[in-house]
Amino acid sequence: MSLRQPYDPDNIFAKILCGVIPSVTVWEDDDVLAFMDVFPQSEGHVLVISKTSRATSLLDIEPEALKRVAAAVQRTARAVDKALRPDGFQILQYNGEAGGQTVFHLHFHIVPRWAGRPMKGHGHAPMAEAAALRDIADRIAAALD
Ligand code: 5GP
Repeated sequence: MSLRQPYDPDNIFAKILCGVIPSVTVWEDDDVLAFMDVFPQSEGHVLVISKTSRATSLLDIEPEALKRVAAAVQRTARAVDKALRPDGFQILQYNGEAGGQTVFHLHFHIVPRWAGRPMKGHGHAPMAEAAALRDIADRIAAALD
């Protein structure tokens, strides 16, 4: 999908937002949702999305919605750090199919990293068990400020 395709209201994250597809929530408010990536590239891989914007990429999100998502990414990353104590973490954000994006509802990845522990490839990680994701999500949620 090119950068200039219109928003598809049937994309996976839109379906998660309206409850058609289940997901493991870390936290949410009226503007944002932080939830576990079901194909985690490392333990504690969280996705953060806007609930209000229909932006497919970074190019078309409204400034106010971007501000709220960015603040949510920082809040969630702080909780990931407190809960899981990684050695580092990556914030990843892909735009357009050629840019590695596979779900066309703008999102940020928070991928914790540990020294000596390779991260699984984007699009090549196995599906995680919902119960294991729930356990990690609860630990991250308990560490939220
Ligand atoms: P992108 O490739 O667009 O940057 O990232 C999409 C992400 O969504 C991938 O990391 C992929 O593992 C994740 N993903 C794909 N389908 C689902 C799903 O049904 N539920 C959840 N929680 N994550 C998904």
